[in-house]
Amino acid sequence: MATTERAFLSTKLAEFGTTIFAEMSALAARTGAINLGQGFPDTDGPEEIVEAAVEALRGGQNQYPPGPGIPALREAVAAHQRRFYGLELDPDGEVLITTGATEAIAAALLGLCEPGDEVITFEPYYDSYAACIALSGATRRLVTLRPPGYAVDPDALAAAFTSRTRAVLLNSPHNPTGKVFTRQELDLIAAHCRERGVLAITDEVYEHLVFDGRAHVPLATLPGMAERTLTISSAGKTFSFTGWKIGWATGPRALVSAVQTAKQYLTYVSGAPFQPAIAQALGLPDAYFESFRAELQAKRDRLCAGLEMAGLEVFRPDGTYFVTTDIRPLGEEDGHVFCLRLPERAGVVAVPTVVFYDDKDVGRPLVRFAFCKRDAVIDEAAARLSRLG
Ligand code: PMP
Ligand code: GLN
Repeated sequence: MATTERAFLSTKLAEFGTTIFAEMSALAARTGAINLGQGFPDTDGPEEIVEAAVEALRGGQNQYPPGPGIPALREAVAAHQRRFYGLELDPDGEVLITTGATEAIAAALLGLCEPGDEVITFEPYYDSYAACIALSGATRRLVTLRPPGYAVDPDALAAAFTSRTRAVLLNSPHNPTGKVFTRQELDLIAAHCRERGVLAITDEVYEHLVFDGRAHVPLATLPGMAERTLTISSAGKTFSFTGWKIGWATGPRALVSAVQTAKQYLTYVSGAPFQPAIAQALGLPDAYFESFRAELQAKRDRLCAGLEMAGLEVFRPDGTYFVTTDIRPLGEEDGHVFCLRLPERAGVVAVPTVVFYDDKDVGRPLVRFAFCKRDAVIDEAAARLSRLG
C-alpha cells in the first residue's frame, strides 16, 4: 500500500497491511493460477447441511438470533465437546456462538486483556493473532517454532513468561505448520499456566484434521486447565463451509461472559439461518468425521509427494490442511519473492510463511501450500511445480 493510503490508519494497526490471504487470492484471480494459498476447500460441505440452511432461510430464521447464539446450536456445541473430549459444558453461559473463530479470537483478546498485558503465542502465528493482540493494547511474546519438527523449546517457553503475562494463545493443530502439539508440550504449557495463574486461549479450528491415528487433545482436558481455558473452534474447516462464519468459544462462565461482553459490540450476532444448519452438522455420525479426516490425509500424501517430486524440502504435517516447505533445494532463498513469481513461473499460488514470523530469518525460505482441493487440482499443481526444478 502507498503511504498516503495509510495516512488515517490508527497507530495500533501501523504494522499491519492487507492480509497475505487476500493478497495471494487476488494474485490467483488476476493470473488464473491454481490457488493453493488461502486455506479454503474447493468443494462444499454435506448437501444435507446446505438443505438445512435453505430450510432455515425459507422458514423465516432471518432476524437477529439471541446474543449468545440459538439454543439448539449452543446445545450441539456442548454435546460435541462431551462426545469427542468428555468436556461438560452448560449451554447456558459456557458456550458462546461467534462470527467464525476469527471473532471469538478478537473478542477473547479484547475482553480479557488490559493494555500492558503480554500474550504468549507461537510463531509462525495465524495473522489475526498479532493484529488482535495489538488492538487489545497487549503485546505479543513469541516462542519460535523451527522446521523440520517445529518442536517447542522448553527454555524459550519458560523465558517468554513474565509478571505481565495474561494468557497463552495456543493453536493446535497449528496453522501454518500443520504441527499437532505433543502431549508433553501441552503438559508443559499447562504447567506454566497453572503455576503462574495465566489464562489459556486455544484455537482448535483444525480439531478434526489430525492424521495417522493421532488424537486431538484440547488443552482444557488437562488437569486444572478447564477452569482457566477458553476453547475456540468453528464450523468452517470441519464442515467445509468457510464462508458461513459460524464459530464458538467455550469454557468457564466468567471467561465466556468476558468474551461475550466484547463480542456484543463487534457483530452482536450473525448467521441466523446457518446456526440451525451447523447445529445439525455437529451431530453428524462418526462416519462423517472419519471419512473427512481420511480424505484430507490422502490429499496431504498426494500433495507432499508432488512437492517432493518438484524438489522442495517438505515438512509433512500431522494435522490441518497445510504443508510447509523449504525452497532452498531449488536454489531459492526468499519465500515472498518466490511466491510473487510463482504464478508466472508455474501457474500456482502459495503463501510465504515468513509473514507469520517476527523472526524473519527463520521464516524467509519457508512456503505454505494448502491441500484442501480436488485431487485433479492437486495433481495439476504438482505437475506444474515439477517444471521449476
Ligand atoms: N484460526 C486459524 C488457525 C485459522 O486457520 C483460521 C482460518 N480459518 C481461523 C482461525 C479463522 O476461522 P474462521 O473462518 O472460523 O473465522
Ligand atoms: N485460515 C485460512 C488460511 O490460513 C484463511 C483465512 C483468511 O483468509 N483469513 O489460509
